[in-house]
Amino acid sequence: MYYISTRNRAMRVRAHEAILQGLAPDGGLFVPERFPELDTEDLKRLCAMDFVDRVRFILSLYLDDFSADEISGFAADAYSPSKFPAANGEREVAPTRQAPVSKVGNEYFLELWHGPTCAFKDMALQMLPRLLSASLEKSGRRSNVLILTATSGDTGKAALEGFKDVERTKIMVFYPAQGVSEIQALQMISQDGGNVFVQAVKGNFDDAQSGVKRIFTDTRLNAELDAIGWTLSSANSINWGRLLPQIVYYVSAYCDLVSGGEIEPGAPVNFCVPTGNFGNILAACYARKMGLPVGKLICASNDNNILTNFIREGVYDTKRDFYCTISPSMDILISSNLERLLFDVLGEDDAAVRSYMKELAESGAYRIPESVLHDIQEILWADFSTEEETRESIRQVWSQHGYLIDPHTAVAVNVSGKYKARTNDSTPNVIVSTANPYKFCEAVLDAIGGKPGPESRNYSGIELIDLLHEVTGVPIPGPIAMLKNSRVRFSGEISKDEMPECVMDFAHKM
Ligand SMILES: *Cc1c(COP(=O)(O)O)cnc(C)c1O
Repeated sequence: MYYISTRNRAMRVRAHEAILQGLAPDGGLFVPERFPELDTEDLKRLCAMDFVDRVRFILSLYLDDFSADEISGFAADAYSPSKFPAANGEREVAPTRQAPVSKVGNEYFLELWHGPTCAFKDMALQMLPRLLSASLEKSGRRSNVLILTATSGDTGKAALEGFKDVERTKIMVFYPAQGVSEIQALQMISQDGGNVFVQAVKGNFDDAQSGVKRIFTDTRLNAELDAIGWTLSSANSINWGRLLPQIVYYVSAYCDLVSGGEIEPGAPVNFCVPTGNFGNILAACYARKMGLPVGKLICASNDNNILTNFIREGVYDTKRDFYCTISPSMDILISSNLERLLFDVLGEDDAAVRSYMKELAESGAYRIPESVLHDIQEILWADFSTEEETRESIRQVWSQHGYLIDPHTAVAVNVSGKYKARTNDSTPNVIVSTANPYKFCEAVLDAIGGKPGPESRNYSGIELIDLLHEVTGVPIPGPIAMLKNSRVRFSGEISKDEMPECVMDFAHKM
């Protein structure tokens, strides 16, 4: 199977090249030339499999330049019981430990946070490094890959866990000293592994991000790296190797609902996805395109509701205020993966995609024609949740069902409710749950009324974990409980200008 660029169909490569390159040289994103289809028989077979076999089945359809043995080994390693200990059980529709579906009242929650960092990004970032390392071998390139990431929180830790000790790779994560929560910082600076490096950068996320971008385009530095055998790459969600593993859990959730007797085989379900960069929900669009019986995909945003406006009105306009919310992983104004959806609904018209992206870069906005908007609305429905509504959702789900959710999941709960209230659609909604609530203790405590009053002393991040446990009795997940005894390996702050030197130093080590 070949992959083509959304900005130039003539740019055509095999899967391992698409994964190695991440972004196409013309700035476009790689998409499969054809999408494999799942028929009724396939779905029946998938329903009888466990999660790891479902991964093997779906990945094999897309990665025909990888052997069955390779894919099999990657799936077993990436989603092994040591990385995904068994989930809690009680409310689960099926015991799929890596991505269980829980039934809470009349709602289904697809829990994607049972991995090593307690956020959904593990689902993809446990697989990507294995694909990347094997892609290097296939390409015959001699250089190794140095992953460079700027993070506002969840991505950095998930990438570190995914890449640690993976052959022919090193990973460096830069995070803003003033821009991540205490727990998120602690998760990163205590990272183990022989090929990892973590550094705080003075300033906010934009400082760290622009520093990383400058390194990627610094030709002299890249030549120096090349001379000592290293090529820079990124782990962000535009890489096909990150998107593909995400298709699997939508198929898996569907199969679990069928196996658990919750729906008839072939009956549709909706998924409601808390969305930032449009990666997670795009994987659901692709599962639907493959033939999974999906009704509507509900795109849930926070106050940064640019996607809500786009899906309702057909105008993508970045000229707006940016809000810092309690669901920070969705605080995004440019959702990169939207370009892949556009390519699809524009009938794979690469010239049209190119011109919209040019407009976006030059004027910060673009508008799509009514007919294209109509096609998007066939697939997607969108709304957003205000900060108060998000807190209210956490409180309500907790008080009514004793089920604790994080702020990102709460955004989806709110928007799922709005969808049901405004449409007559009685199709079951599956709410995609993207983080464990213990990753966002402060906001969750605040929402359920367990936060210490303003007159009390400041609680540290670690103390808030215990407090949330005292108030709710919900078990603390292993990787978060472990933070209490963690050893800090990476300390200090550097300025943005010191980042290139820092990269060269690390590349020279080992
Ligand atoms: C990254 C993230 C999201 C957004 O996912 P996208 O693929 O960027 O749309 C939502 N919730 C959490 C907890 C995340 O870490």
